[in-house]
Amino acid sequence: MNSEQPPAATGRAPGRRERAVDVLVVGAGPAGLALASRLAATGSVGVEVVDREDEPGGVPRHCFHSGFGLREAGRPMTGPAYALHWADAAVHAGATLRTGVTVTGWSDAAVPAAAPLRVDVTSPAGTERITARAVVLATGARERPRAARLVPGTRPGGVFTTGDLQRTVHVHRRPVGRRAVVVGAESVSYSAVRTLREAGVEVVAMVTELPYHQAAPVTALDARLRHGVPLLVGARVGELLGRGRLSGVALRHRDGRSTTVACDTVVFTGDWIPDHELARRGGVTLDRATRGPAVDGSFRTDRAGVFAVGSLLHAVEPAGTAAREGLLAAGPVLRHLTDGTGPAVRVPVEVDAPLLWIAPNRIDPADPCVATGGFTLRTESRLGPWSSLVVSRGGRVLHRQRLLRSAVPNRTVRLSAAWTANVGAGADGEPVRISVER
Ligand SMILES: Cc1cc2nc3c(=O)[nH]c(=O)nc-3n(C[C@H](O)[C@H](O)[C@H](O)COP(=O)(O)OP(=O)(O)OC[C@H]3O[C@@H](n4cnc5c(N)ncnc54)[C@H](O)[C@@H]3O)c2cc1C
Repeated sequence: MNSEQPPAATGRAPGRRERAVDVLVVGAGPAGLALASRLAATGSVGVEVVDREDEPGGVPRHCFHSGFGLREAGRPMTGPAYALHWADAAVHAGATLRTGVTVTGWSDAAVPAAAPLRVDVTSPAGTERITARAVVLATGARERPRAARLVPGTRPGGVFTTGDLQRTVHVHRRPVGRRAVVVGAESVSYSAVRTLREAGVEVVAMVTELPYHQAAPVTALDARLRHGVPLLVGARVGELLGRGRLSGVALRHRDGRSTTVACDTVVFTGDWIPDHELARRGGVTLDRATRGPAVDGSFRTDRAGVFAVGSLLHAVEPAGTAAREGLLAAGPVLRHLTDGTGPAVRVPVEVDAPLLWIAPNRIDPADPCVATGGFTLRTESRLGPWSSLVVSRGGRVLHRQRLLRSAVPNRTVRLSAAWTANVGAGADGEPVRISVER
């Protein structure tokens, strides 16, 4: 990998270096790398991408299955090949790529509006303060671990998230266990099943609280019929059992029954939380529903010059979506470098139950451009194909969109952006509301 490393530390304690770049991209996953490749290719701006991991590529680095790249490269790729594809694209376009470098915070969080953007960075070579004309947050998302899901019980070995599992199996090549339960039934849960099977682990059950799986039907059928993985619906893990090593999980079923499944491994999958720590520290407003930065249709946060893309905004969409957003965000970032302004008025976009969240979730009436090509939503219960999404503001209906097929939790629902130019101005804070008409 042709990536630049910071200068080696000298014998004395290194002082903090002060540097300036045009655009600093935080996170070398598909979103950050794709953005860097397009920006750097213009030849007009200096772009630096930093990542705290030792290798660039983000999550796909440890997804050793295929299922990446069809849209961008026209052929199926494994996660590591896909990671390399975007890292190469960024470096060949002229971006500087630095790994093992963590952005820890901002030097000027107290003055969000006009101050230059200055971030604090740490790496084995010491600390730095980087001043940038624009900062793009592409820090991704992670799965909530067992502790954050408040699952009681002992603290035995053998408890993973999908990310932990994939790193253990594919990156560190360490053994996992013999009998596993996978908690979740969305597409990433089936990736966990695949990794477990490749590691020679028997998957004794998948467990979901919902009454159905939430993956592509062919994926779920394959796991169930060809590989014999039973799907237990309407059930949740109530307790972890065992000392030292996991010996089983206690399940609570919706009908009140309790059962125990013997296993030495449990994988908690899905249930995402955006990696929003840096955004929060920078005083960037987070959207209450997504818990990622609140962004408008040009990926602008409410802090001038700070943009956000990828899983940080909508955990978690396919990698192609994250990369596409990176490419699309290049235009707004370049525009900011020229005119230096941020959005003046931002109309919130909010959802009513059973919808859970929407991204983007702000509209600038003066610039309603939705570079994302539309909106991404999630629902917490199934919506039939006869349902419609209704967009309104102040009681005025702006748009109605019929769903062409059922929508299920943990899968993408798309809403067209055709109505955004009709939102109207008005800084009265009246939100645009998205509701469901059945
Ligand atoms: C188990 C699993 C299987 C998947 N399978 C598929 C699949 O088959 N096909 C598909 O299309 N998609 C798949 N996905 C989804 C895909 O991985 C994501 O859409 C994609 O990785 C999102 O890209 P991103 O750039 O937004 O974030 P990420 O890939 O998460 O990258 C974010 C990067 O930011 C870095 N970072 C975070 N904070 C800091 C900081 N403070 N300083 C420096 N660096 C920082 C992280 O180290 C990381 O490298 C899968 C995801 C998972 C978890």
